[in-house]
Amino acid sequence: MGKVLKRIDWTNSLFLTLTPVAAVAAVIGHVMYEGFNPWTLLIAFFFYWATGMSITVGYHRLFAHRSFEAHPIIQFFTLVFGAASFENSALKWCSDHRVHHTHVDTEEDPYNIKKGFFWAHIGWIMVRPTKPETYPMSADLRRNKLVMWQHRYYLPLSIFVGIIVPTLIGAWMGSPLGGLGIGALGRIVLVHHTTFFINSLCHMVGDKTFNDEHTARDSWITAIFTFGEGYHNFHHTFQADYRNGVRWYHFDPGKWVIKSMSWVGLTRKLKKVSDETIAMARIQMKDKGVHA
Ligand SMILES: [Zn+2]
Ligand SMILES: [Zn+2]
Repeated sequence: MGKVLKRIDWTNSLFLTLTPVAAVAAVIGHVMYEGFNPWTLLIAFFFYWATGMSITVGYHRLFAHRSFEAHPIIQFFTLVFGAASFENSALKWCSDHRVHHTHVDTEEDPYNIKKGFFWAHIGWIMVRPTKPETYPMSADLRRNKLVMWQHRYYLPLSIFVGIIVPTLIGAWMGSPLGGLGIGALGRIVLVHHTTFFINSLCHMVGDKTFNDEHTARDSWITAIFTFGEGYHNFHHTFQADYRNGVRWYHFDPGKWVIKSMSWVGLTRKLKKVSDETIAMARIQMKDKGVHA
């Protein structure tokens, strides 16, 4: 792939810096002019889970890693709410993510942690290549009509579902500014930084339980606010597995949702690495004396 020249992406940079400011302004306006409406927290709660889980279950484990197959309804839902998280189209997100796994910790890794916390967390989104993007490693996704439909209509879809709908629900509750500030903008900022932590903190904090040849780490603490993706050492070691938290008690709502949907036929062909392979990897790391 070679080194790609990059320049500042002003749209992304302004969006990432202005959404927290706009969220605070809208929340202040909401409290001053509408009086705090606790029901707006319910809008934020719904959209936080719907968009965050769409990234984890849809963008990440279904489309990027193909760790299971899903009914078109699930594909549609995760593409629509994934767009509402404002983290790019699934085509771009998955292409970046597959390059991350293939070239982890090198110059070609788009969110290479060796370039520091800020770069891996948010800096890499604030620049873009000087040439049009080619979305490498995404031939299979280009054949998926739903993925390409979402890619084509990403911007109107994300604005409508991610901002206009929560604002309208807020207006219906008598608090349009609350819907905008809490349900839309505040929630977007929260989902942004919790998912960004997977690229930053999850490559810095925790244990190297299964492999020490990459920087990814396992931590139940990061798992709590990354929809279960905090078991990142397991994930980078066994990326085809639909689970991230491999033990039954590991907090991994992504895993629980994918498994539950398989009982009603909405997901199938869930990929799992054998218990023996996982145990062997764990023992090898123990023998090496690697804990962190
Ligand atoms: Zn991954
Ligand atoms: Zn990673």
